[in-house]
Amino acid sequence: MSRIAFLGLGNMGLPMALNLVKAGHDVTGFDVVPAARDALAAHGSAAETIGAAVAQAEIVVTMLPAGKHVREVYADVLVHAPAGCLLIDSSTIDVTSARDVASDAAAHGFVMLDAPVSGGVGGAAAGSLTFMVGGPEDAFATAQPVLAAMGKTIVHCGDSGAGQAAKICNNMILGISMIAVSEAFALADRLGLDHQRLFDVASKSSGQCWSLTAYCPAPGPVPTSPANRDWQPGFAAALMLKDLKLSQEAALESGAVTKLGAVATGFYQELVNSGFAGKDFSYAYKFLADLEGNG
Ligand code: NAD
Repeated sequence: MSRIAFLGLGNMGLPMALNLVKAGHDVTGFDVVPAARDALAAHGSAAETIGAAVAQAEIVVTMLPAGKHVREVYADVLVHAPAGCLLIDSSTIDVTSARDVASDAAAHGFVMLDAPVSGGVGGAAAGSLTFMVGGPEDAFATAQPVLAAMGKTIVHCGDSGAGQAAKICNNMILGISMIAVSEAFALADRLGLDHQRLFDVASKSSGQCWSLTAYCPAPGPVPTSPANRDWQPGFAAALMLKDLKLSQEAALESGAVTKLGAVATGFYQELVNSGFAGKDFSYAYKFLADLEGNG
């Protein structure tokens, strides 16, 4: 069992930290929000500062909103963590920040992994997240039992930043494919084709994909999909927009051409600007179905 400092006890971080407690780890948490600290303190322990949280840690795990928070928090962690402490950032952030912070960590004598997740709040609570990990092989091996307390699938993707790269590439596929499936259902509606009939054909044909078969954006065919509960998330449109913007930053910096990624980013931006930031990203279907167009 390890002494773990967990920083960032929000929608994802708190249930992840609680799974570490459940697995028998000695967890000390910190969040800038006092209520989040109290929620962990009821089961583990909470510290009043980052310095106090990490002082005795063998492993630090962070689950923060964005790259700027990760840079800010690690500026503090790197001066307070004990030598030999392994650093794991599970936030979804830009690849450049992930690599910069890992190289700052190395300059201070620490090894750092980027280990973003997919699986959402449900996966965090169930301990069934997928971890995509970037960083040295031996650090990955050390982290594995800790990550296994929070997730089911743990993939070493390569060097520093590779976990974040895998996350944004996957979510770019998801964001684009969800629009494709949504457009098909919106078109089917106009053509008088029943949702279930389209599903029966496409799910067994070349249109088959996760956005269709596991998360159908149109009500009916997949009873567990958010479409059947007024598109309550799930995975909010605002979070999909965040990940697509990260993909576009990475594309710009690396020179990759992601034409549909750019269109998808604009589409989710429109969804968010239209007041649907808090709806599931599969609200794409409803948004399109409600639009009046003629070409
Ligand atoms: P959240 O906003 O609920 O939690 C972030 C927490 O970090 C908050 O409690 C906030 O107070 C805390 N925080 C901010 N600055 C801090 C600081 N300087 N020191 C300590 N704590 C600080 O967000 P979330 O939904 O838990 O998401 C966390 C990360 O996981 C994000 O990068 C997100 O993109 C990613 N993610 C989220 C989901 C999801 O479904 N929510 C799924 C996969 C990945």
